[in-house]
Amino acid sequence: MERTFIMLKPDAIQRGLMSDILKRIESKGYKLLAMKFLRIPREQAERHYAEHKGKPFFEGLIEYMTSGPVLMMVWEGENIIASMRTMMGKTNPNEAAPGTIRGDYAQQTGRNIIHGSDSPESAKREIELFFNDYEIQSWEPSVSKWLCE
Ligand code: UDP
Repeated sequence: MERTFIMLKPDAIQRGLMSDILKRIESKGYKLLAMKFLRIPREQAERHYAEHKGKPFFEGLIEYMTSGPVLMMVWEGENIIASMRTMMGKTNPNEAAPGTIRGDYAQQTGRNIIHGSDSPESAKREIELFFNDYEIQSWEPSVSKWLCE
């Protein structure tokens, strides 16, 4: 089982898309391990997107990500990192396939509503950046045996 860090960005919250997006993730059968609703401090947003520092869109990205509250989560499931990237669709919503979260709900790269880790290394780094160990739940949904044999 793999863990990933998922964040509904400020535009998803402002546009009232939270429940629609959560429904997709929950219905897939993934297990929620942690969830927080807050405005990210600028310093943490910059650390989260450190790989993009110096790029032309960096300042705008940090402004956007700190402009309002976000919903940050840890989810667990089989091959969840790659599968969530597929469910989210391409970074540019105009290139994201219909049926994906970005393909269905967004238009621009700069307002693409959701973040999901892109590798096991970034998932680990991002989870540690935003969550303490005690905030991550260990629990067994009763339907587990109907999801994975
Ligand atoms: N981004 C942007 N303009 C760009 C490229 C990226 O505003 O030209 C933002 C966008 O919100 C994207 C985030 O920076 O989701 C991180 O970019 P990355 O390439 O890591 O894409 P992701 O992993 O989010 O699909």
